[in-house]
Amino acid sequence: MISQDLLEILRCPACVREKEGLLKLERETWLVCQEPDCGRKYPIKDDIPVMLIEEGDKWASVAVEELPVPPPDD
Ligand SMILES: [Zn+2]
Repeated sequence: MISQDLLEILRCPACVREKEGLLKLERETWLVCQEPDCGRKYPIKDDIPVMLIEEGDKWASVAVEELPVPPPDD
């Protein structure tokens, strides 16, 4: 579980320069960008959010309900 304080400061790295890039926590293990034209999803592995654009890209086309829980190790 990651802290609320941390959640509040995290932003989608692909969006934050031009937009808010707010993230929503889904099923305790994913952070989903709320920008409608983004859809990147960032896994939380061992309580550490993996905030890499290339990681977010991997999951952009996967529906929230189809995200694996827990996120896979690679
Ligand atoms: Zn985004």
